[in-house]
Amino acid sequence: MTKSDERPGAELWVPEHADLSELRHAAEECRGCELWEDATQVVFSRGAATAPMMIIGEQPGDREDLTGEPFVGPAGRMLMEAASAADLLEDDLYVTNAVKHFRFERRGKRRIHDKPAVGHIVACHPWLEAEAEIVQPEVIVALGATAARAVLGRTVKIGEVRGTVLEPPAGCVSPVVVTAHPSSILRVRDSADREAAFDALVDDLRTAADLVTR
Ligand code: SF4
Repeated sequence: MTKSDERPGAELWVPEHADLSELRHAAEECRGCELWEDATQVVFSRGAATAPMMIIGEQPGDREDLTGEPFVGPAGRMLMEAASAADLLEDDLYVTNAVKHFRFERRGKRRIHDKPAVGHIVACHPWLEAEAEIVQPEVIVALGATAARAVLGRTVKIGEVRGTVLEPPAGCVSPVVVTAHPSSILRVRDSADREAAFDALVDDLRTAADLVTR
């Protein structure tokens, strides 16, 4: 029995003492869970190791899966708009996802987003850990419940914790701000409610930005 049979997860594929480009390259080969089988490619991260803020989403979406780039779909565009409204620059941000392969369900020709299971979050966590170790962000922003679960190692209710500065989780030096995932804002039908939800996201990003000193 190999180590991966005993303990599935990305750990076997994460190189030691790697820089970001080596991590990105190594992730292409990851077989730490089954999600690589149906996805087009791994979607890793965008941003420099010097970025003071690490923003973590859930998983790549359809467009991200096809392009190989994170946060290029509608939710990604909304995040960047909110970041800009919070006076954050592109260079301030290192953006990544809790799970690096797209999980979806086929319905005819369409691929419908399917939330990653806790097992996928746990399997993919070694990549997130390695990224945080390299970037050493001054603050981590978790977008939505999956990212919060990945960062904090426990389930939280977004409505209860959002916008507050949480202590760094075990093994991490960065405080965490949890907020809503932009995709949840895109699903709000009423335009006034959607605008209010967008403003709340900007407020949470401002709270995180206040912790940045470099
Ligand atoms: S989702 Fe994560 S753990 Fe699973 S195969 Fe992809 S990179 Fe590896």
